[in-house]
Amino acid sequence: MKTLIDHKFYEVTADTAVIYNGAAIPITDDGNQNWRIVVDNGIILLTTFEVDGVLWCFSTDLQEMAISQFVTEQLPETGMAYTEIEWFKTLPDPVEEWTYHIFFKLKGAENYRSGWRQADSEAALIELLQNPEYIGLEDGTGEWLCLCANVAFDDGFYTCDTQGEEMEPLIGSDWKGLYACAACGRIINGDTRKVVGHK
Ligand SMILES: [Zn+2]
Repeated sequence: MKTLIDHKFYEVTADTAVIYNGAAIPITDDGNQNWRIVVDNGIILLTTFEVDGVLWCFSTDLQEMAISQFVTEQLPETGMAYTEIEWFKTLPDPVEEWTYHIFFKLKGAENYRSGWRQADSEAALIELLQNPEYIGLEDGTGEWLCLCANVAFDDGFYTCDTQGEEMEPLIGSDWKGLYACAACGRIINGDTRKVVGHK
Protein backbone atom coordinates (compact mmCIF):
# COMPACT_ATOMS: atom_id res chain seq x y z
CA MET A 1 0.00 0.00 0.00
CA LYS A 2 1.19 3.50 -0.79
CA THR A 3 0.03 6.71 0.72
CA LEU A 4 0.51 10.41 0.34
CA ILE A 5 -0.39 12.50 3.33
CA ASP A 6 0.39 16.13 3.97
CA HIS A 7 2.63 16.24 0.86
CA LYS A 8 4.79 13.26 1.85
CA PHE A 9 4.86 9.88 0.20
CA TYR A 10 5.01 6.65 2.18
CA GLU A 11 5.24 2.97 1.47
CA VAL A 12 2.89 1.64 4.11
CA THR A 13 3.84 -1.40 6.16
CA ALA A 14 2.32 -2.79 9.34
CA ASP A 15 4.08 -0.17 11.45
CA THR A 16 4.09 2.86 9.16
CA ALA A 17 3.72 6.20 10.83
CA VAL A 18 3.05 9.41 8.95
CA ILE A 19 4.21 12.87 9.87
CA TYR A 20 1.17 15.06 10.32
CA ASN A 21 1.49 18.57 11.74
CA GLY A 22 4.96 17.65 12.97
CA ALA A 23 4.00 14.50 14.88
CA ALA A 24 4.55 10.87 13.87
CA ILE A 25 1.19 9.14 13.85
CA PRO A 26 0.63 5.49 12.97
CA ILE A 27 -1.79 4.54 10.24
CA THR A 28 -4.32 2.20 11.73
CA ASP A 29 -7.19 0.17 10.45
CA ASP A 30 -10.51 -0.13 12.29
CA GLY A 31 -10.63 -3.85 11.48
CA ASN A 32 -12.73 -3.38 8.37
CA GLN A 33 -10.02 -2.03 6.08
CA ASN A 34 -10.99 1.53 6.96
CA TRP A 35 -7.58 3.19 7.20
CA ARG A 36 -7.16 6.26 9.33
CA ILE A 37 -4.87 8.34 11.45
CA VAL A 38 -5.99 9.34 14.91
CA VAL A 39 -5.07 12.89 15.92
CA ASP A 40 -5.80 15.06 18.98
CA ASN A 41 -8.96 16.57 17.60
CA GLY A 42 -10.38 13.50 15.93
CA ILE A 43 -9.88 10.86 13.31
CA ILE A 44 -8.74 11.56 9.77
CA LEU A 45 -10.17 8.95 7.48
CA LEU A 46 -8.07 7.91 4.53
CA THR A 47 -9.75 7.12 1.27
CA THR A 48 -8.35 4.29 -0.79
CA PHE A 49 -8.44 3.11 -4.34
CA GLU A 50 -6.71 0.26 -6.08
CA VAL A 51 -4.86 0.25 -9.40
CA ASP A 52 -3.62 -3.10 -10.67
CA GLY A 53 -3.29 -4.60 -7.24
CA VAL A 54 -1.58 -1.65 -5.55
CA LEU A 55 -3.70 0.07 -2.96
CA TRP A 56 -3.25 3.83 -2.75
CA CYS A 57 -4.57 5.71 0.21
CA PHE A 58 -4.97 9.44 0.77
CA SER A 59 -6.18 11.93 3.25
CA THR A 60 -9.31 13.52 1.85
CA ASP A 61 -8.26 16.79 0.31
CA LEU A 62 -7.47 18.23 -3.09
CA GLN A 63 -4.46 16.02 -3.54
CA GLU A 64 -6.57 12.90 -3.73
CA MET A 65 -8.04 13.89 -7.04
CA ALA A 66 -4.77 15.06 -8.55
CA ILE A 67 -2.89 11.96 -7.54
CA SER A 68 -5.50 9.41 -8.53
CA GLN A 69 -5.62 11.13 -11.91
CA PHE A 70 -1.85 11.05 -12.13
CA VAL A 71 -1.66 7.34 -11.31
CA THR A 72 -4.46 6.27 -13.62
CA GLU A 73 -4.06 8.68 -16.54
CA GLN A 74 -0.79 10.53 -16.75
CA LEU A 75 1.75 7.99 -15.62
CA PRO A 76 0.70 5.28 -18.12
CA GLU A 77 1.24 7.85 -20.91
CA THR A 78 4.89 8.08 -19.93
CA GLY A 79 5.25 4.32 -20.39
CA MET A 80 6.28 3.89 -16.75
CA ALA A 81 4.67 1.73 -14.14
CA TYR A 82 3.48 3.37 -10.92
CA THR A 83 5.03 0.54 -8.93
CA GLU A 84 8.45 1.87 -9.95
CA ILE A 85 8.01 5.22 -8.25
CA GLU A 86 10.58 5.74 -5.54
CA TRP A 87 9.66 9.24 -4.53
CA PHE A 88 6.57 11.29 -5.07
CA LYS A 89 5.39 14.69 -3.89
CA THR A 90 2.98 17.46 -4.69
CA LEU A 91 3.63 21.17 -4.67
CA PRO A 92 0.94 23.86 -4.84
CA ASP A 93 1.48 26.16 -7.81
CA PRO A 94 2.91 29.46 -6.51
CA VAL A 95 0.57 31.48 -8.72
CA GLU A 96 -2.44 29.47 -9.80
CA GLU A 97 -4.75 28.63 -6.95
CA TRP A 98 -6.00 25.05 -6.71
CA THR A 99 -3.28 23.81 -9.06
CA TYR A 100 -0.88 21.17 -7.82
CA HIS A 101 2.30 20.05 -9.50
CA ILE A 102 2.94 16.35 -9.14
CA PHE A 103 6.57 15.42 -9.26
CA PHE A 104 8.33 12.14 -8.87
CA LYS A 105 11.46 10.08 -9.31
CA LEU A 106 11.50 6.51 -10.54
CA LYS A 107 13.64 3.77 -9.06
CA GLY A 108 17.08 3.87 -10.67
CA ALA A 109 16.36 7.09 -12.56
CA GLU A 110 18.79 10.00 -12.43
CA ASN A 111 16.23 12.70 -13.06
CA TYR A 112 13.39 14.11 -11.02
CA ARG A 113 10.37 14.80 -13.20
CA SER A 114 7.15 16.76 -13.26
CA GLY A 115 5.36 16.31 -16.55
CA TRP A 116 7.73 17.45 -19.29
CA ARG A 117 10.12 19.17 -16.89
CA GLN A 118 13.18 17.36 -15.52
CA ALA A 119 16.02 18.26 -13.22
CA ASP A 120 18.88 16.40 -11.60
CA SER A 121 17.89 17.19 -8.04
CA GLU A 122 14.71 17.74 -6.06
CA ALA A 123 15.74 21.33 -5.29
CA ALA A 124 16.43 22.12 -8.95
CA LEU A 125 13.06 20.74 -9.98
CA ILE A 126 11.23 22.77 -7.33
CA GLU A 127 13.09 25.84 -8.56
CA LEU A 128 11.86 25.11 -12.10
CA LEU A 129 8.28 24.63 -10.94
CA GLN A 130 8.31 27.85 -8.93
CA ASN A 131 9.76 29.88 -11.79
CA PRO A 132 7.67 29.07 -14.83
CA GLU A 133 8.86 30.15 -18.27
CA TYR A 134 7.18 32.92 -20.20
CA ILE A 135 7.89 33.82 -23.79
CA GLY A 136 8.63 37.49 -24.46
CA LEU A 137 7.68 40.21 -26.89
CA GLU A 138 9.90 41.45 -29.67
CA ASP A 139 11.18 45.03 -29.37
CA GLY A 140 9.50 47.31 -31.87
CA THR A 141 6.89 44.96 -33.32
CA GLY A 142 5.44 43.67 -30.03
CA GLU A 143 5.17 40.24 -31.66
CA TRP A 144 5.76 37.08 -29.68
CA LEU A 145 9.39 36.17 -29.16
CA CYS A 146 9.93 32.58 -28.05
CA LEU A 147 12.71 31.66 -25.62
CA CYS A 148 14.32 29.82 -28.58
CA ALA A 149 14.36 33.17 -30.51
CA ASN A 150 11.65 32.11 -32.95
CA VAL A 151 9.22 34.88 -33.97
CA ALA A 152 6.04 35.00 -36.06
CA PHE A 153 7.91 35.95 -39.22
CA ASP A 154 10.40 33.14 -38.75
CA ASP A 155 9.00 29.65 -38.06
CA GLY A 156 6.01 31.15 -36.27
CA PHE A 157 3.41 29.71 -33.95
CA TYR A 158 0.31 27.62 -34.56
CA THR A 159 -2.84 26.87 -32.61
CA CYS A 160 -2.67 23.49 -30.89
CA ASP A 161 -4.19 21.09 -28.39
CA THR A 162 -2.69 20.25 -24.97
CA GLN A 163 -0.26 17.79 -26.59
CA GLY A 164 1.04 20.40 -29.05
CA GLU A 165 -0.73 18.88 -32.05
CA GLU A 166 -2.01 21.44 -34.54
CA MET A 167 -5.74 22.09 -34.36
CA GLU A 168 -8.21 24.65 -35.68
CA PRO A 169 -9.58 26.94 -32.96
CA LEU A 170 -13.14 26.58 -34.20
CA ILE A 171 -16.15 27.76 -32.22
CA GLY A 172 -17.44 24.73 -30.33
CA SER A 173 -14.09 22.92 -30.49
CA ASP A 174 -12.25 22.14 -27.27
CA TRP A 175 -9.37 24.49 -28.08
CA LYS A 176 -7.85 25.73 -24.82
CA GLY A 177 -6.27 28.92 -26.18
CA LEU A 178 -2.90 27.23 -26.70
CA TYR A 179 -0.21 27.84 -29.29
CA ALA A 180 2.92 25.88 -30.11
CA CYS A 181 6.25 27.29 -31.21
CA ALA A 182 6.97 25.75 -34.62
CA ALA A 183 10.71 25.84 -33.91
CA CYS A 184 11.14 24.33 -30.44
CA GLY A 185 7.73 22.83 -29.59
CA ARG A 186 7.04 24.88 -26.47
CA ILE A 187 3.30 25.00 -25.79
CA ILE A 188 2.15 28.49 -24.81
CA ASN A 189 -0.95 29.88 -23.10
CA GLY A 190 -2.07 32.60 -25.53
CA ASP A 191 -3.44 34.87 -22.81
CA THR A 192 -0.51 34.83 -20.39
CA ARG A 193 2.39 33.71 -22.67
CA LYS A 194 3.26 31.14 -20.01
CA VAL A 195 4.95 27.98 -21.26
CA VAL A 196 2.64 25.18 -20.16
CA GLY A 197 4.10 22.19 -21.93
CA HIS A 198 6.40 20.84 -24.55
CA LYS A 199 5.53 18.89 -27.67
ZN1 LIG B 1 10.44 28.21 -29.45
